[in-house]
Amino acid sequence: MSFSVLSLNSTLVNTLASLGYESPTPIQLEAIPAILAKRDVMAGAQTGTGKTAAFALPILHHLLALSPAQELTAARPVCALVLVPTRELAVQVQQSFVKYAKGTDIRVGIAYGGVSIDAQVAVFNAGIDVLIATPGRLLDHLRQGALSLKQLSVLVFDEADRMLDMGFMDEIQAVIKQVPSDRQTLLFSATLDAAIFSLSKTLLRDPKLIEV
Ligand code: AMP
Repeated sequence: MSFSVLSLNSTLVNTLASLGYESPTPIQLEAIPAILAKRDVMAGAQTGTGKTAAFALPILHHLLALSPAQELTAARPVCALVLVPTRELAVQVQQSFVKYAKGTDIRVGIAYGGVSIDAQVAVFNAGIDVLIATPGRLLDHLRQGALSLKQLSVLVFDEADRMLDMGFMDEIQAVIKQVPSDRQTLLFSATLDAAIFSLSKTLLRDPKLIEV
């Protein structure tokens, strides 16, 4: 089955063809239509299943529909936030977004700890549409007023089980207080155990459950 069945923006479809992606993976086939339909999603998917594209492609599709290139200004609000447990995953997810957003004006920012905060703020000030962040550094930015999430439309938790294992529950709750309640929420986790289901009850609304 080809990517054309998913009705994604043609720029994205062309990019996927140039990357040599011939067909969607099972997680992509299930998650992309649900995310395009604005549903919350809870997905059990390991690394290597194509989970990053499963959330990145529909987010980019929405951004392309929202923001014609000429309207992208420095003052634009962050529309999508991807929370990840580690700096390494933040970098990987950012690289994936940049790869899939090739040929568009969508800008992707990153925020993780252990490096200077100023360089990250300078990127935010130039205008970003998507932010990939670890919870602690994201809260530092929010406390400093470097960033607002008041107009966020999509919140993604990637590797949510690792976030819980690393003790990020308080940080997650603090971030949730700063994002709109009418957002779309997507939760990806390698394992779907009782702790994840309990977290999902506080974060997701009538999610489509996907297991691959
Ligand atoms: P992930 O599970 O997101 O870490 O992705 C694993 C790898 O699969 C990455 O290197 C992606 O570039 C690649 N990938 C994702 N979706 C597809 C696809 N539909 N066809 C071929 N490769 C893909």
